[in-house]
Amino acid sequence: MLQILNSAPFVPFTAVSVFIFGMLTGSFVNVCIYRIPLEKSIIFPPSSCTECDHRIKWYENIPVLSWLFLKGKCSGCKKKISMIYPFIEMTNGFLYLVAFFRFGISSDLFFVFYFISAMVVTAVIDFKTQYVYSKVVLPVAFLGVLRAFISPSITALSSIAGMVAGAGLLLLAIAIFYAVTRKIGMGLGDVYILGAIGAFTGIGVIPFVLFAASFGGIVFFIIAKLVFKKRRLAKNITQEDINSDNEKDLDNAIYFGPFLAAAGVLTLLTPTYLLDTVFYFRLF
Ligand SMILES: [Zn+2]
Repeated sequence: MLQILNSAPFVPFTAVSVFIFGMLTGSFVNVCIYRIPLEKSIIFPPSSCTECDHRIKWYENIPVLSWLFLKGKCSGCKKKISMIYPFIEMTNGFLYLVAFFRFGISSDLFFVFYFISAMVVTAVIDFKTQYVYSKVVLPVAFLGVLRAFISPSITALSSIAGMVAGAGLLLLAIAIFYAVTRKIGMGLGDVYILGAIGAFTGIGVIPFVLFAASFGGIVFFIIAKLVFKKRRLAKNITQEDINSDNEKDLDNAIYFGPFLAAAGVLTLLTPTYLLDTVFYFRLF
């Protein structure tokens, strides 16, 4: 039955449906990104304007289209609605589309959808607040292992080993960094994120995830330095912060979570044979 949706004549129809489904889910991803750091329920109440509490009507809540139709403004108070919202809806839709072409319509694909959206939520919240929420990432690890029992693309052993190795490697890195510098270089959040990624990708590609995340992080850091200049980047850090070990200092030193999450999605969506032949990073 499901195979019909993957057959050549149906692929355009299925692909468009998957993209729309991804954008609708992206709308919910936006709700999660906004509400989780505020410790608010992600289910209730329905969305309203963050400025004037104007309840958003169903036709104002159509991904991307409503934003364009409303010209990026709330219909109640005319305050600007950030472009981030339609951007995240588009990104989520696009990633679902890629996942469909990688995995086909299957029960496996819905686990992958969940992984993608959870990583988008984790990356954006971490980027905005420097916090990683265990209630977002721990279920990802759990469902990653669960998926391995039904998925044709990963064994349960590789999933569990991936989770343990992902979390373990970063814990080890933190321990070594602390032993040498007496500073905590990374947050535990990064440990959670790489553990969750490992449960989905398996142990073989963990080195590639770390490589891709580090590469992305370094490129971003260089670009950010060039664009914002040293002074503006460091504007929020006072000399007192630098002298003490407080969080602001640490977070500005290493900023890894969003890049780990992005690298995890990239790795899961890259066909295995590419990782095998191009990168030689798949060990198992
Ligand atoms: Zn408003």
